[in-house]
Amino acid sequence: MSSKREQVSPREAALWIAERLCEHGHVAYFAGGCVRDRLLGIEPSDFDVATDARPDRIQELFHSAVGVGESFGVMLVRRGGHAIEVATFRSDGPYQDGRHPVSVTFSDARSDAARRDFTVNAIFEDPSTGELVDHFNGREDLDNGILRAVGDAPSRMAEDHLRALRAVRFAARFSFEIEAATAEAIRDSVGDLDGVSRERIGGEIRRMLAHPSRGRAAALLESFGLDAPVLLESSLDSAAHPVLAVLGERERPPIDGVAAWLIDRHGSEANDHVEAIRDALLLSNQEHRTLEGVLSTEQALREDWISFGVAARKRLAALDVFPVALELLGARDSGLHDRVVEDLEPLRATGLAPDPMLDGNDLITIGLKPGPDFKSILDAVYDAQLEGRVVDRKTAVELARELATRG
Ligand code: ATP
Ligand code: MG
Repeated sequence: MSSKREQVSPREAALWIAERLCEHGHVAYFAGGCVRDRLLGIEPSDFDVATDARPDRIQELFHSAVGVGESFGVMLVRRGGHAIEVATFRSDGPYQDGRHPVSVTFSDARSDAARRDFTVNAIFEDPSTGELVDHFNGREDLDNGILRAVGDAPSRMAEDHLRALRAVRFAARFSFEIEAATAEAIRDSVGDLDGVSRERIGGEIRRMLAHPSRGRAAALLESFGLDAPVLLESSLDSAAHPVLAVLGERERPPIDGVAAWLIDRHGSEANDHVEAIRDALLLSNQEHRTLEGVLSTEQALREDWISFGVAARKRLAALDVFPVALELLGARDSGLHDRVVEDLEPLRATGLAPDPMLDGNDLITIGLKPGPDFKSILDAVYDAQLEGRVVDRKTAVELARELATRG
């Protein structure tokens, strides 16, 4: 059953909050990504509200409000199943170690725009009229496809190195040019990403590689020399990214992009870089396993598919990571890719991963003594099943007996 709460869109939820603030004499705008995205014709995923109301006042007006960064004046307000960030206008004090501002001061809309990273992210929208409050000509940059730091580019980039990665992500995603002074500041001062945690680096890279613009993001990172601090390896300009390109025009799990990028950078040696990437991007165990699986399967396809028999091919083709590995193979060897696709048809027709006819209990039932050779017997019977030499329980049992006596 759909409740009334769920029918409120994020935009309506944010609008309700902003209107309520205004009714109580405050200024309240939509801010940041949601304004930018709407102007670009993209449906924003989340809405942020910026206001002159202080956190204690926000708490008073919205009982659901909880502080998420109260020292920075950021509150989370729940409405209609959505959690909307409501932040008090502020200006940031000096930055420490390229990490956090030492202090923040509550201020007005203009100072709040001035602390934001890029002009296109510093536009406010009056939600009731749709009018823009645009202190740094973000609209013009947006229309011209330009990503420009707010204020003095070198100092803005120096105070927070994460902005360099955000610049790459936005420029890639929206196909924007990074304005010259901003680009120079990135190149000059943030080559080490000093002060940015591995979590945040990993987060930014995942978002870049998940998005269809992943190839452009990789090229930008490499051209700025940011690939070195991101991947914790030497900088490398791989120029073209044919393997990333093969991932196509849709969102994908980030790990597909990591695998593709590694092959673009290191070719057949991609496997050797998995451990370093795990540490560099703080991959989860699951992501690490998948990455290893994709790369080793791609390698097996390249090196062994032709010589593999039916059972080995079926075992490989049944892996979760096989479709991605096959796609990546296509970028490097389209002839072999097409050959594998052809080979797959008859393999699929007879079943890539049928349920095994026998398990360990069956072996005991037919009188075999449990032991270390159980696994090799079961593997051999399963291979025979995959190859069609074993077609029912009777032939399976016969083979198992024969293998057991052969020892
Ligand atoms: P998206 O959510 O699509 O990544 P966004 O612009 O909404 O894009 P958020 O990380 O949600 O990005 O941040 C919201 C806003 O906060 C930004 O638009 C920007 O104005 C400001 N902001 C975020 N991170 C920084 C930063 N490191 N330095 C300065 N301003 C920032
Ligand atoms: Mg956002």
